[in-house]
Amino acid sequence: MKLPVARRLAFDGLRVVSGMCPAGRECFPLSFREELGLETEPVNGSISNPFAKILLVEDDERVRREVHKALDAQGFEVTCCGSVRDARIQLSSSHDLLVLDLGLPDGDGLDLCRSLRAAGQSVPILVLTARGRPEDRVGGLDVGADDYLVKPFFVPELIARIRSILRRTGQDPVPSAANCGALCVDSESRLATMAGQPLDLKPKEFELLLFLMRHPGRAWSREQLLDRVWGTSFDGGTRTVDLHVTRLRKRIEEDPGDPRYIRTVWGVGYRMTEDPEGSQA
Ligand code: CA
Repeated sequence: MKLPVARRLAFDGLRVVSGMCPAGRECFPLSFREELGLETEPVNGSISNPFAKILLVEDDERVRREVHKALDAQGFEVTCCGSVRDARIQLSSSHDLLVLDLGLPDGDGLDLCRSLRAAGQSVPILVLTARGRPEDRVGGLDVGADDYLVKPFFVPELIARIRSILRRTGQDPVPSAANCGALCVDSESRLATMAGQPLDLKPKEFELLLFLMRHPGRAWSREQLLDRVWGTSFDGGTRTVDLHVTRLRKRIEEDPGDPRYIRTVWGVGYRMTEDPEGSQA
């Protein structure tokens, strides 16, 4: 699909040079991945499985926001901060992985990395930085980083690297499917089933259902759903969300007028139930 130039260049900090992209493809922020067929293999947020906890230390607000959103959409539990000082505070509680910028306002991420290793902390560290010289990469790995990714970067590559580290450290939270009652969504096969019967969903219907199932019990406003599922560059209004929910309900609900799975939260938006047999409104 061809996108307008303005949308292609929406996030310079996350845009990637073409040489880093899959052969013959341009690379875009995660928001565009489905439209472009650049879908990453998502980490499935199964309802019954804990998510990996990631601490993102990045002082560039735009990069932080977009990476946070991308990781959140993958089902990771993400905490963000923008300074060495705040990172040290956050690291007093356990995390499964640290994504670490180097140029921070109150210090150098390399020093943080070095001191964590000196203190015997083994939390995996992925350095995400604009410092791309070979000696920078070697230096980062030498002070204890587990991986090193240079900006601008391809968001799916960041996610793939995170998953790779988590697999190596035995913390990959990847189950292949999310279930809720008789409803099952498999992010790898991109198949949704109800009581074992495949559901015929359009791509955005699938994405919306997957997103809601990754966050059971949580209410989302229409604006939040637009932002998370359609992306910040989407031009349509919130009515789009309502239309997709209506279509999803027709496919997954026994009685779309009395939905058991995707509940309406009055004055807010929608929520995927944690208990489709329950009686909550
Ligand atoms: Ca920085």
